[in-house]
Amino acid sequence: MTDTNILPHLIQAIQSEMLNNEEEISALDRAIGDGDHLTNLLRGLDAVAKLNNELIQLDWSAALMKIGMTLMSTMGGASGSLLGSMFVSMGKTAKDHQLDLAGVTAIYTAGVESIKARGKSDIGEKTMLDTLIPVMNTLQTAVLESQDRSSVLKNIKTAAIDGMLSTKEMLATKGRASFLGERARGHIDAGARTSQLILCVIADELG
Ligand code: ADP
Ligand code: MG
Ligand code: MG
Repeated sequence: MTDTNILPHLIQAIQSEMLNNEEEISALDRAIGDGDHLTNLLRGLDAVAKLNNELIQLDWSAALMKIGMTLMSTMGGASGSLLGSMFVSMGKTAKDHQLDLAGVTAIYTAGVESIKARGKSDIGEKTMLDTLIPVMNTLQTAVLESQDRSSVLKNIKTAAIDGMLSTKEMLATKGRASFLGERARGHIDAGARTSQLILCVIADELG
């Protein structure tokens, strides 16, 4: 696995992917939320990008923690505290792991578990977890089967896309969309979509 000096490039790739899908993402959060998800995310990404020079001096553990704390203090919204805690947890867990497939899986799993704990949420509630959890399951299977790198990256993308699409017909039980009842059906969750886009960009950049 690569050094933290890949971070500025990854962050920039994620920023452009968000901007390329700007209208769609904003429309998703407008339909069943309050319309600010992309703005929140871009604010967080911008704050993280400003730390590029600092991040590349850090090891993965410290860099992930720094990213998490930055997201928490700048993003705002439900997604800011959830993604912030995900990265802080990943940073803490990264202390004890190599960045091989098993290590990345353990680190990512800790991040997803912290969202579940903080959001009191799980798969099937029409949130970002419907993207993040299937990817976690995919990584865990990949470890058990010792899958090769290109299969893992391909499987991550498929799981993220299928998970994101699965939110369309769900009822929401967490977040703002939960106030809408049946009216939330037929719309993809904005956080599930941005999580999927981010995971697919990372998989492409690492491929
Ligand atoms: P806000 O809803 O406060 O305006 P954002 O628009 O930035 O915040 O983020 C909304 C996204 O956060 C939703 O689309 C959903 O994916 C995610 N989300 C909200 N509440 C939860 C929760 N309890 N657990 C997991 N994800 C959640
Ligand atoms: Mg919102
Ligand atoms: Mg909001």
